Amino acid sequence: MLAQPEFVVVGQGLAGTALAWALLRRGRRVLVLDRERDGCSRLAAGLMTPVTGKRLAKSGRWDELHPTAVAFYRTVEADTRTRFFQQRPAVRLFADDAERDEFHRRERNILRGLVTRELHLRAEWFAAPLGGFEMPHAARLDVPQYLDASRAHFRAHGSYHTADLDPRDWELTAGGVRIPSLSVEPRVAIFCRGFDTGADPWFGAVRFNAAKGEVLTVRVPGLAEERVVHRGVWLAPAGNEVFRVGATYTRDRLDTRPTAEGRAEIESKLRAFLKVPFEVLDHRAAVRPVIDAGLPVLGRHPRHPQLAYFNGLGSKGSLLAPHFAEHLARHLCDGGELEEGLNVSRFLVQTESRG
Ligand SMILES: Cc1cc2nc3c(=O)[nH]c(=O)nc-3n(C[C@H](O)[C@H](O)[C@H](O)COP(=O)(O)OP(=O)(O)OC[C@H]3O[C@@H](n4cnc5c(N)ncnc54)[C@H](O)[C@@H]3O)c2cc1C
Repeated sequence: MLAQPEFVVVGQGLAGTALAWALLRRGRRVLVLDRERDGCSRLAAGLMTPVTGKRLAKSGRWDELHPTAVAFYRTVEADTRTRFFQQRPAVRLFADDAERDEFHRRERNILRGLVTRELHLRAEWFAAPLGGFEMPHAARLDVPQYLDASRAHFRAHGSYHTADLDPRDWELTAGGVRIPSLSVEPRVAIFCRGFDTGADPWFGAVRFNAAKGEVLTVRVPGLAEERVVHRGVWLAPAGNEVFRVGATYTRDRLDTRPTAEGRAEIESKLRAFLKVPFEVLDHRAAVRPVIDAGLPVLGRHPRHPQLAYFNGLGSKGSLLAPHFAEHLARHLCDGGELEEGLNVSRFLVQTESRG
C-alpha cells in the first residue's frame, strides 16, 4: 500500500526528476510514477555548452541557468553519494569560413569570458584546418546515472513507484485527484510526460513542435580525447574508446525508430573532422519535447488547479530542468508568481472558451 502523497509527479525524465527533488527539499510528501520505457532523457547526451548553433549564439539565459544547474547536480550527487556530473571544457571546430568570421566578430563581446582560442587537439585524430575554440565552462550530465541515482533515492524514501498510468481513469475531487489504480489521492498531480502521444484529457491541447534526434554509439580504437568535440555533430567520450555521436534534428516521422538516413548523416559529419576509423556499435532515436524553442511550459491547469504541467524542455533539458523545476515548486508550494510567457494556461484557456 502506497503512503498518501501530497504531490504525484507523472514521469521520471529530466523534468519530473528535478521537480521531485525541488518538492522533496521543501519537505513535501511526493510520489514519482514512471512506466520505465520510452522517454527521451535516457538518450540525451547531457551536454551543457555556453555557445550553440550555427550562429554561435550564447545559450539563452546561460548566466542564470548554468550556476543553478551546477549547484543542483552537485547537491544531488552529495545526497545520493554518486558521481554523474562533470565540468570539463568542450571544443568547437569551425565548419566553414562564415563560422570562423562570425566567431571573430563575437569573440570580444557576446562570447567574452565563455571561449578561448586554445584547442590542444591532437592532429593525428582530428582535422581542424579552420581552427576553432574551447569552451572552458562546458559541463556534462550522465543522464542515465543521474536518473538511476535519483530513482534509487526516491524509492528508498517511499517516493517512487513503477506504473503506466492512464489519466482518463482519474477523478478530480474536492481535495485533489483520485488515482483509482493506485488508491492514492494527491492534492496535486504534475504531468511531466515529455513528448507523449498517449491520451491526456487535460493538457492534450498543448501543441508540440517536437524534433526527432538520432544518436550513434561508436568505438574509435586509439582515440583518447576526453573533451566533447563539436563540428556539425558532437563526439562525446563514454570511456574505453567508446563515444556517442549525434544528434540529428528532424521534424518528420516523430517516432523512436533509427533510420538509415540519420545514420548516414551522422557518419558523414563525423568523418568531416575525425581522421581515424570508427565502428558503429549502436544506433538509437528519441523525440525532443519542444514546445516553445528554448523555454519550458509549466503551471497549473486554469480550471483544475489540482493538475499541473512541466514540459517542453526541448534540446536543453539538463540545463533548463533545475531552474524551472525550482520555479514551479515555488509556485505550487508557496504561491510564487510564474514567469510571464511560460504558463501552460495560454494553450488551455482558448480551447476551454471554445467548448
Ligand atoms: C538525441 C537527443 C539528444 C539530446 N541531447 C541533449 C543534450 O546533450 N543535453 C540536453 O540538455 N538535452 C538533450 N536532449 C534533450 C533532452 O533529452 C530533453 O530535454 C529531456 O529529456 C526532456 O525530459 P522530459 O522529462 O520532459 O521527458 P522524458 O525524458 O521523455 O520523460 C518523460 C517520462 O514520462 C514517462 N511517462 C509518460 N507518460 C507516462 C504515463 N502515462 N505513465 C507513466 N509514465 C509516463 C515516460 O516513460 C518518461 O520516462 C536530447 C534529446 C535527444 C532526443
